[in-house]
Amino acid sequence: MSLTFPAWLVSKTEEGQNANLTELTENDLMPGDVTVKVEYSGLNYKDGLALTGKAPVIRNFPLIPGIDFSGSVERSSHPDFSMDDKVILTGFGVGEGHSGGFAGKARVSGDWLLPLPQEMTSRQAMIIGTAGFTAMLCVMALEDHGITPDMGDILVSGAAGGVGSVAVSLLAKAGYRVIAATGRLEEKDYLVSIGAADIYDRHELADKARPLAKELWAGAIDVAGGNTLANILSHIQYGGAVAACGLADSMSLPTTVAPFILRGVTLYGIDSVMAPMEKRKIAWQRLARDLDLEKLEAMGQEIEFSELPTAAEAILAGQIRGRAIVKLPS
Ligand code: NDP
Repeated sequence: MSLTFPAWLVSKTEEGQNANLTELTENDLMPGDVTVKVEYSGLNYKDGLALTGKAPVIRNFPLIPGIDFSGSVERSSHPDFSMDDKVILTGFGVGEGHSGGFAGKARVSGDWLLPLPQEMTSRQAMIIGTAGFTAMLCVMALEDHGITPDMGDILVSGAAGGVGSVAVSLLAKAGYRVIAATGRLEEKDYLVSIGAADIYDRHELADKARPLAKELWAGAIDVAGGNTLANILSHIQYGGAVAACGLADSMSLPTTVAPFILRGVTLYGIDSVMAPMEKRKIAWQRLARDLDLEKLEAMGQEIEFSELPTAAEAILAGQIRGRAIVKLPS
């Protein structure tokens, strides 16, 4: 058995940061009580920022990026995990401050791991990944707000991307009429196949928002922020809610208080990275139970491990459909 394993390693130099494909040993990993043989890792928007260095995602150098992975336990001194257990990890600063999933092995705290739900494979878990988990948290926020399918349509922005695709599928399966906002109208057939009832051209949400606009949607899941989120808020029906999780458009939020004080609209902030364990368990049980696994396959595409930097540029340019995953060389 080889003692080395392939890994992407991001280092900092005087010119900035750079990512190199290299061979590492377990001595190169950070401390932790569980060593995992990584089987799959997902490419998330944040991984795109980390690999390209377009935003300061990485806080420790050198570091293996990759904010999520699935695999099997090789060694554990954590009471909840033993050898050969199948596990998943999303967030907790992995791929940011602690080395992550773009490597043959990962060493992490067992407190960050979840057992792989029995209903799914390691591959399916990473097609879901951080993006799908976040989509589930967004759906749960709208449900907890009391929005039911009879109240009206639900808009999902970035619908052809990772969070958006899983959100469309989950909402449709739960009986909601889903409006998929996308900049890629050519993806209409794909979006309809995963559950969209209608398509909305996202460019209509790109200009400066009016304080209030026609009430169109009972709720929304937004991955974009910026003018997109501001426009969505202006279009939410009285008493409705928006779950906001992303900044694919912008970090800013140029809105007014009008939707909140005149229509009683609620804006929920969704964070997956530090989401508490109890919430994670519920979300992954729901994903295992509610996601149509056939539709999930349609959302996933495997990319070569060596192609990660190219795919990183593509995800930041909004060109990846659904979820891109990598299978780690065994
Ligand atoms: P993807 O790149 O897969 O999807 C993002 C999608 O947003 C694109 O595919 C595109 O979809 C749309 N988009 C791109 N540019 C713009 C723009 N200028 N205005 C409006 N929409 C745009 O990324 P993910 O789905 O993985 O992540 C989406 C966002 O959510 C990111 O900002 C990410 O950082 C954030 N995120 C946050 C998490 C959290 O814990 N809060 C966890 C996971 C992700 P289309 O072509 O269909 O319009």
